[in-house]
Amino acid sequence: MASGANVVLDDVPSLDLMTELLRRMKCASKPDKRLILIGPPGSGKGTQSPIIKDEYCLCHLATGDMLRAAVAAKTPLGIKAKEAMDKGDLVSDDLVVGIIDEAIKRPSCQKGFILDGFPRTSIQAEKLDEMLAKQGTKIDKVLNFAIDDAILEERITGRWIHPLSGRTYHTKFAPPKVPGIDDVSGEPLIQRKDDTVEVLKSRLESFHRQTEPVIDYYTKKGVVAQLHAEKPPNEVTIQVQKALL
Ligand code: ADP
Ligand code: AMP
Repeated sequence: MASGANVVLDDVPSLDLMTELLRRMKCASKPDKRLILIGPPGSGKGTQSPIIKDEYCLCHLATGDMLRAAVAAKTPLGIKAKEAMDKGDLVSDDLVVGIIDEAIKRPSCQKGFILDGFPRTSIQAEKLDEMLAKQGTKIDKVLNFAIDDAILEERITGRWIHPLSGRTYHTKFAPPKVPGIDDVSGEPLIQRKDDTVEVLKSRLESFHRQTEPVIDYYTKKGVVAQLHAEKPPNEVTIQVQKALL
């Protein structure tokens, strides 16, 4: 069903309205969940997120997707973020903290959220916890997509995405029905500009130096679940389900 402030309900087909109503009724019985997905680029966070989102009626907030949309739209935020993103460096903490602060207030995040690619530094983690403390909430679980670096090059260089929805494919591991075309919308898929062997090196360096301390930060709080992210996607989904019981 179309979403957005300007939808005229009279124009929405009854079947779509009923489906949405049923979805919301089912969601009302689900527990609230505030989750962080942490792992290096290509570890499978974006692949698992839609499954978790549907199961628990959460919103999926992927800072990388949000920043890429801002770069494509040439907004002031996008202009500030582009240079660092092209090089595989992290953008400034203030920029991403601002995006998340806004986003978690959305109505779609009412039952909780999946943070995918955020927090990526200890400062971001501390700011997030401050934000949540103000709302009287906290992070329930951090899913650590643990994987050996050696596996990531093939995953990253074979990745194709549908930019509008964030749907992810892989030439070998998750091919679309028609090469280069999104299964759902029929629109073209693209490869990310930073999904190259060269830029992956900087992204992995940032992950080990700046993001791994975030795992230690949440381990001390006792909320980290370890996943074997090198396993096939459906096996990772089962591990996620067990971690969220
Ligand atoms: P991330 O969001 O962590 O950067 P993605 O979910 O986009 O990673 O996955 C990176 C690539 O690897 C995608 O092309 C995806 O289809 C593929 N992929 C994801 N999970 C697996 C898996 N468990 N096994 C093999 N390939 C996978
Ligand atoms: P991703 O889609 O998660 O691989 O992110 C793509 C790029 O966006 C990263 O290489 C960073 O340049 C930037 N980015 C995404 N999330 C963050 C974050 N939480 N902090 C800083 N930079 C980020």
